[in-house]
Amino acid sequence: MRIAVVGSGYVGLVSGACFADFGHEVTCVDSDERKIEALKKGVIPIYEPGLDELVARNSEARRLLFTTDLDAAMQSAEAVFIAVGTPSRRGDGHADLSYVYAVARDIARNIRSFTVVINKSTVPVGTGDEVERIIRETNPEADVAVVSNPEFLREGAAIEDFKRPDRIVLGIEDERARAVMTEIYRPLYLNKAPLMFTARRTSELIKYASNAFLAMKITFINEMADLCEAVGSNVQDVAHGIGLDNRIGSKFLHAGPGYGGSCFPKDTLALVKTAQDYASPLRLIETTVAINDQRKRAMARKIVRAMGGDVRGKTVALLGLTFKPNTDDMRDSPAISIVQGLQDAGATIRAFDPEGMEAAKACLSDVTYCTDAYDTAAGADALVLVTEWDAFRALDFPRLRTLMKAALLVDLRNVYRREFIAQHGFRYISVGRPEEDIPVALAAE
Ligand code: NAD
Repeated sequence: MRIAVVGSGYVGLVSGACFADFGHEVTCVDSDERKIEALKKGVIPIYEPGLDELVARNSEARRLLFTTDLDAAMQSAEAVFIAVGTPSRRGDGHADLSYVYAVARDIARNIRSFTVVINKSTVPVGTGDEVERIIRETNPEADVAVVSNPEFLREGAAIEDFKRPDRIVLGIEDERARAVMTEIYRPLYLNKAPLMFTARRTSELIKYASNAFLAMKITFINEMADLCEAVGSNVQDVAHGIGLDNRIGSKFLHAGPGYGGSCFPKDTLALVKTAQDYASPLRLIETTVAINDQRKRAMARKIVRAMGGDVRGKTVALLGLTFKPNTDDMRDSPAISIVQGLQDAGATIRAFDPEGMEAAKACLSDVTYCTDAYDTAAGADALVLVTEWDAFRALDFPRLRTLMKAALLVDLRNVYRREFIAQHGFRYISVGRPEEDIPVALAAE
């Protein structure tokens, strides 16, 4: 099968490389010439474990090509995936669909025979209808079927997720397109990955409903963590206790500084906007968005409190800046609000992230970027674990103690245990876990 993928970012590049690895002939297109030139030389513009090797292997086999020329990529392509960004629109929070619609127009001009156009970008309900309308208006002769096939991969585990998905959702209302999509995903189908066929509008909503539900689950446990701090309970035990109920499940129940990244914040907001437009508001999601926004900044206040309430003239060392480990993505990372909140309170920031520092430099100013955890901690009044990279899971606390001005660890990911940290003479503040044992009688007062 010959496939073109338009947009060679996280989703387009991973999808294109995986499709090529299945044996399809794939051309990845991007309007960013520098990105395409780099990809042609085997330089991967993002950090994603295993992607460099996958791209190299399939490029060498000539199953994976890169170009800025959509026309050339579409020559004899039976399927064209749209995988461009759908960021929040400035000002109102709706998904900005201008990139999707621009690509739809470009695709329309290059359709010569029956072509399946697949929306892999995360797009609001009805976008497939509009893409189809644009294509038919631009090229009335076009023999086309527009399909919705949302992507569920997670950054940091993208290849594994793409190759072993929980499900593949296909919003299709055309029999020929169904045959093409079944053929594209046949290698996975043989692995028993469930292909779910549904109506196009339903498929579009499944993606948003999934992300909104997961964002709500994280927010639930984050609020529960605040209550745990107030009443002297341990949120990890609460999460474990409720997660053992298989109607609830244990995933996405890790309390922390709030969700970030390139998907949850913008997708929850876009869903809220869609629901309001249809006069069917989603109050749970509206509240989730508001709580999460406030939580990120509240983490800065938590650090200030842990440092005695005044950080003017003090130095805070941050470990981890990306919104989660194993990615270099800084989009909507909680670290941004935390750094800004601490700087507003007068603190000096030192920071280290294994992969995200280049991206961080573009969105954070007046930060001293360091070479590792120990360099970061040097002379600091507090060490804050913001992102749980493996490199921060077994820190040398005796060494840190000799380097730091004050022995304080604020662990926003609950990586450590208080008893362990206390052995090394550190004060330890985490999320939703008591700072010290609260006697039962006292807790009840
Ligand atoms: P990205 O910003 O990493 O990549 C988008 C790419 O599209 C960029 O390289 C850009 O140069 C290119 N592009 C823009 N306009 C173009 C045009 N007219 N022609 C050719 N190329 C063009 O975005 P992403 O993270 O890959 O996300 C893409 C979509 O997938 C979004 O809708 C996102 O919500 C969704 N999604 C992302 C993830 C994720 O983990 N990143 C997961 C699931 C779904």
